[in-house]
Amino acid sequence: MPGQHLPRGEHRVKTIAGELAYFVRGRARQNLKVLVLYCVFLLAVILLNALTFRFLMLHLEGREFTLIASVYWTITVMTTLGFGDITFHTDPGYLFASFVTLSGVVFLLILLPFGMVSLFLAPWIENRLRYRPTKGVAPATRGHVVICGLDPVTRALVSKLKARNIPFVVVTDKYEEALRLEEEDGMRVSYGNPADAEVLLKLQVGGARAVIANLNDTDNTNIILTVRSLCRTPLIALVDEPEHAEFLRLAGADQVIPLKKLLGHYLATRATTQGALAHVLDSIGKLLVAELPVHGTPFSGQSLAAAGIRERTGLAVVGMWERGAFTIPGPETILADRAVIVVVGTREHLEELERLTGEKTEEDLVLILGHGRIGCSAATFLDRRPVPFILVDRAVNPLCSEHVAVIGDATARSVLQGASIGEAKGLIVTTNDDGANIFLTLASRHLNPHIRIVSRANREENVDQLYAAGADFVVSNASVGANILMNILEHKESVFLTEGMQVFRFPVPPSMHGTTLRTSRLRSRTGSTVIALEQPGEKEMTILPSPDDLLVKGMSLIMIGSPEQEAFCRRELH
Ligand code: ADP
Ligand code: ZN
Repeated sequence: MPGQHLPRGEHRVKTIAGELAYFVRGRARQNLKVLVLYCVFLLAVILLNALTFRFLMLHLEGREFTLIASVYWTITVMTTLGFGDITFHTDPGYLFASFVTLSGVVFLLILLPFGMVSLFLAPWIENRLRYRPTKGVAPATRGHVVICGLDPVTRALVSKLKARNIPFVVVTDKYEEALRLEEEDGMRVSYGNPADAEVLLKLQVGGARAVIANLNDTDNTNIILTVRSLCRTPLIALVDEPEHAEFLRLAGADQVIPLKKLLGHYLATRATTQGALAHVLDSIGKLLVAELPVHGTPFSGQSLAAAGIRERTGLAVVGMWERGAFTIPGPETILADRAVIVVVGTREHLEELERLTGEKTEEDLVLILGHGRIGCSAATFLDRRPVPFILVDRAVNPLCSEHVAVIGDATARSVLQGASIGEAKGLIVTTNDDGANIFLTLASRHLNPHIRIVSRANREENVDQLYAAGADFVVSNASVGANILMNILEHKESVFLTEGMQVFRFPVPPSMHGTTLRTSRLRSRTGSTVIALEQPGEKEMTILPSPDDLLVKGMSLIMIGSPEQEAFCRRELH
């Protein structure tokens, strides 16, 4: 804040002036008026008492006092000081003196302090102690990420940013939220409307690494327009309605992420036992990364070596999922029926695999519980393959005119059975309520032990519970969203497999030009494995290269490893 940069003395004067200014503003000003009136009243009482004293002394005791002496007497009696240098000697005089003492106690010793405390001191202390949200960041801040809208996705991103020491600030125009985040979570928060240019300027948006717009589509549009009117800072927007993506781009967003649509695809990809091409997760150059359930393939129960996937299709098996645990399989690893293998290869390789495993469109049937945006996107994805599916939702989705859903509460056994849970091969559990998702996973596993269950976790902390409830695969909104955002922020192309494992591209460093994979000792130096070599110009790929393959200039390595290993490669290998 600017105040922090003032010289100390000047700062203090400003502070005191600020505190005094408090008393002439707003309610304090009203109270000040009351105090002035009360003082006038007190003066009147003192004067009245003094005049009465003078009159009584003269007429009862024949002594005459000046007005000053009378006021002096009144004040010493009213304040209960009572020096005793001037006293009455008659009963009416004593009575009057007692009355003056009592009026002093009431008006001066009780009402005045009470009024001072309740009208001034208490409100002032309250004002001092009240939380005043931070507005903006220090003027020298650069390279920070400005996050508009905190939800599980951006919370997961915040953890990643903290881990990488990338500065960030969360902007909110909700006072209560700002208070909660700053006090409870120790989050770096700024209070203000992110669509307001002044607020953005205080956030040093011009020097920011990126702005992430994660409110609803209309508010995001406002933010984007305002940021663009100020600077060229990269703008990333998460969009609810994929059709709105175009508008956000028009407004000036550099990247628009239709997260719900992507999540629907991820869920659908993992729910069918269809041909390999239905399972493509993502691509890196020409290389496609697919997650394929072993169930329904001829490889079920065989070892990786015996399955011969590489020899028969050219695909590399780079990972295996079993109930939430990710491993890198060796030749002896058994491909369990309920496991999901991660394969990488070109489209041709995947087509080869599809020929081998055959298309099983007819026998496939997927049940989708929850027809929100994510469920709807999963349905659209299946429709395109085409895989038959049944949607269940409590209510009609007003945004979708394409699909017809069974209407009913999926937590009711009759509804699940009516939607053929007994016959379905796959199940996608995608309501917006994790409690319901956990319950539905458990109930479905009970009703159909062989069904392939893919569940959505709205909150990261429920992933384990969903696996425990019997899910074969859990897709976490927060993880997926945060990883997409992180990849964009770090300008890198990589495919997220699981927390701590990803496929990334890395150009062969000059020091390795002309060496072979064996002599480069890439694996022992970095810990990550090279799964493919991309020839210059992306014309060709060598999948699972041999140790004798030569590394040349312009070639890229496609590697599998942790984000830390990737960071190590980028930092250490030149
Ligand atoms: P998203 O857009 O993220 O998918 P929504 O809130 O739009 O999230 O969608 C969740 C859907 O799940 C809603 O359509 C809701 O009606 C549905 N849903 C939630 N609980 C149940 C339930 N117990 N049975 C059936 N549908 C449910
Ligand atoms: Zn739909």
